[in-house]
Amino acid sequence: MRLVLATRNAHKVREFESLLTEHEILPLPDNVDLPPETADTFAGNALGKARAAFAATGRPAIADDSGIEAAALGGAPGVRSARYAGEDATDEENLAKLLREAPAGSALAYVCALAYVDEDGGEQLVEGRCTGTLAQQPRGDGGFGYDPAFLPDDISDGRTMAELEPAEKDAISHRGRAARALLARLEG
Ligand code: IMP
Repeated sequence: MRLVLATRNAHKVREFESLLTEHEILPLPDNVDLPPETADTFAGNALGKARAAFAATGRPAIADDSGIEAAALGGAPGVRSARYAGEDATDEENLAKLLREAPAGSALAYVCALAYVDEDGGEQLVEGRCTGTLAQQPRGDGGFGYDPAFLPDDISDGRTMAELEPAEKDAISHRGRAARALLARLEG
């Protein structure tokens, strides 16, 4: 199937292209505006983006909304992960703020809500989670966002998410889990 991926994030495009190899991922046309992420849940924001892409293109569309929850911060930054250190904050600024505010070794969870709108406007919503802990120091240059400080529970050799090969990240990540859940729904 041809699926429009409602994102401007090149890292997410790379990850979804690997995760959904049986489908053709179409880029979001340049003239399509995505709605502001104003919902207070990942699911609400993901649905808003997928609906906008479907409405603008008439094609089946997928969108994810994702972020990181720190137990020591009561689940923050959560849906505000991309804007944690300010509206136009860079990944580096957001990561530095998390390292300042949460203690090393404290529990983290990556969350990904993935929404799909089919050619008739029917909707599916799935979620994937990946748990881990906060590293003392950022390490690695793979992945994006908070990956250099995220020590996944599924990796036993002490590497951060940013030190994994792309396929290793895909096998355990919140986005990988959500993508596989969506594939199971589409096939079932
Ligand atoms: P979104 O575009 O609102 O879904 O923003 C997601 C934000 O959450 C990103 O800007 C990152 O800060 C963070 N995030 C989501 N997924 C990942 C990931 O796989 N690795 C690292 N950071 C992530």
